[in-house]
Amino acid sequence: MSENLEKEEHIKNSHKLLWRLIREELPRHKFLLTVAIICMIVAALTTSATAYLIDPAIKEIFLNKNKNLLYILPGLIIVVSLLRGISTYGQSYLMGAIGTKIVNNLQMRMLQKLVYVDLSYFSKFHSGEITSQFVNDANNMRDTATTVVVAGFKDMLTLIGCAAIMFYQDYILATLTLFIFFPIVVLIKRLMKKTTKSALMIYKYTGSVSSALSEIIRGIRVVRVYCREEYELKRIKELFETRLHYLLKEIKARSASSPITEAITGIGIAIAILYAGYQGMEGKMEINNFMAFFTSMMMAYQPSRSLSGLATKIQSGLVASHRVYNIIDLPLGIKEIDSPIILEKCHGNIEFSNVCFSYYNNHDYTLKNINLNIKAGQKIALVGSSGGGKSTLLNLIPRFYDVSKGQIKIDGVDISHIAPHSLRKFISLVSQDAFLFDGTIKENIMYGKLDATPQEYEKAIIRAASYEFIQELPEKDNTRVGESGILLSGGQKQRIAIARAFLKDAPIILLDEATSALDNHSESIIRHALEELTQGKTSITIAHRLSSIVHSDVIFVIEQGEIIEQGTNENLLKNNSHYANLYHQTA
Ligand code: ADP
Repeated sequence: MSENLEKEEHIKNSHKLLWRLIREELPRHKFLLTVAIICMIVAALTTSATAYLIDPAIKEIFLNKNKNLLYILPGLIIVVSLLRGISTYGQSYLMGAIGTKIVNNLQMRMLQKLVYVDLSYFSKFHSGEITSQFVNDANNMRDTATTVVVAGFKDMLTLIGCAAIMFYQDYILATLTLFIFFPIVVLIKRLMKKTTKSALMIYKYTGSVSSALSEIIRGIRVVRVYCREEYELKRIKELFETRLHYLLKEIKARSASSPITEAITGIGIAIAILYAGYQGMEGKMEINNFMAFFTSMMMAYQPSRSLSGLATKIQSGLVASHRVYNIIDLPLGIKEIDSPIILEKCHGNIEFSNVCFSYYNNHDYTLKNINLNIKAGQKIALVGSSGGGKSTLLNLIPRFYDVSKGQIKIDGVDISHIAPHSLRKFISLVSQDAFLFDGTIKENIMYGKLDATPQEYEKAIIRAASYEFIQELPEKDNTRVGESGILLSGGQKQRIAIARAFLKDAPIILLDEATSALDNHSESIIRHALEELTQGKTSITIAHRLSSIVHSDVIFVIEQGEIIEQGTNENLLKNNSHYANLYHQTA
């Protein structure tokens, strides 16, 4: 979508979005909201009441010299002010709490979507951009929501109260004054449009800055060794400058709103004095009425000024919510049928019939007409040039993606009819560039089976040849592994990943062999552990070094999305096959 179209879309949908936010999120906080609204009404009423009391104060105390009221009126003003203070506190706290709870809930909804969303989403967007949406946009929404609901509603009510008193005192003068507001509304609307455009770009560039930053942190070694510090700084500086440009534009629009209101209100005050003074001289208006009118007008001045400032702030909050809802509305990648099959047990037979798959839902197939028949307990290897489609094929088995055409069956059941969760219970994925979470070794292994007994846990460690090295660590299995397991060696990480798979004890094991070579000793330990892991299970291994899969029951050679050869190592080597070429290249 072009940038301009995108902007128009945001502007058009902002009202719908606001309604959606109110409809989906407010009902949950009905009670708090009711109390807050009562506080708001009291706060607005007491503010206007202060203005209203000016009339009797002047008339009775100064003009009529009423002694009783000399004590009663100030007392009333104190009571009203106290009430005003308490209700303002109540509405400010409650609305703040509601706003914060709403944003927390939206963040939870985003998170819920992100853990289930179609995997292709993560290949389309940079993790830094997603994090920025999750943190910055949601925080901005929180700021806007709390300021708008806290200040906005109260100001609006106060404004209405003050306007009512102005009309009560002198409706002609009040109508005259209200006319002054029309140009303010028109101007503020224009400013709001400008803010929307800038806010959209600010969020976009904040996302880009986050992405660039997270890349530099992860790739700092590459940056250093290629001496690209200045290059990276320049790249980020450009992003910063573009963001600054839009930030300044937004500040400009925002800053203009209050002074415009101030200037126009000044004209209003001048007109009011001119008209009222004229009326007073003609004897048509008393000083007490004028003072009450004037006080209401001055009290209306502050809320109208802050409301005009808020209007631009709301726009930026709405753009943020638009981005937040974009995540909440993401489609789930896997379509579950109405009553999916829950797999109770699994032997591990896998069958691919005429499977085609495209990442883009078109006829540009990454996998073409794949037919495989894997019996339970067989050891299968996938080999072939890089980019041929081996990982894609592996990803279809746990339904990370659904096939575009054809069928995959497990124990004779079409996996598209099986609930993904129940299917994945029977599959272990051991990518040997093991991914570890930033927790302890124990937490990382227990990930395979959260309720594993201590005996099961220890057995898994021993079978994954991890027991010795874990014992040598300073805090044994309570040692933290650092971000992505950075504190462990490559071989240690792999063994922890294997222990995790041992604990899961799934009948189907998908292995993605590491491309990076380990030293001979580590490699032989890991190979041994993997042989043990795949014993009696169905295993499918993507092999980069063919020496590791010579004992496989069937080897499939995949090139450009098609199976071009299949057989055992011996059979394939006998013919002058593509496999034989590969074998001699990598051996
Ligand atoms: P292999 O594992 O054999 O190296 P892959 O299955 O990773 O091959 O990739 C097969 C093809 O699919 C490649 O052309 C690759 O660019 C493409 N591909 C892989 N992952 C994605 C993705 N998430 N989105 C779009 N295309 C992809």
